[in-house]
Amino acid sequence: MISPELLEILRCPLKPGDAKLRLVGDCLECERCALRFLIKDGFPVLVIEEALLPSGCESLGDLPCQKEEAENEAAAGTFQIHPRNTGMERGEIHGASE
Ligand SMILES: [Zn+2]
Repeated sequence: MISPELLEILRCPLKPGDAKLRLVGDCLECERCALRFLIKDGFPVLVIEEALLPSGCESLGDLPCQKEEAENEAAAGTFQIHPRNTGMERGEIHGASE
C-alpha cells in the first residue's frame, strides 16, 4: 500500500513542482491533470508512457500539467530574443546622435 507519507512527497512527473498525486482505487491520480499512474507490487509507476490518460483526453499535450510546461518554454524563447533587440536599439541611438 502507498503510505500517506509517500503520497505527500510524490508529484506528477509532468509538473514535479506542485502537482500532487492522490490515491484513487489501484492508481495514483494527479490532482491537476488527472493522469493516472499504476501501482505495481506496491510501488507507483510514475512513468508518463505507462500512465492512463483521463477520459476525454486523447494526448499528453492536452493535459493541464503538460500545457503549462509548453507555455513556460515559449516564454523562455521570448526572453532569449530580448537582449539582441536591446543591442540593435543601442546601435541605432548611437548612430543617430553622431
Ligand atoms: Zn499532472
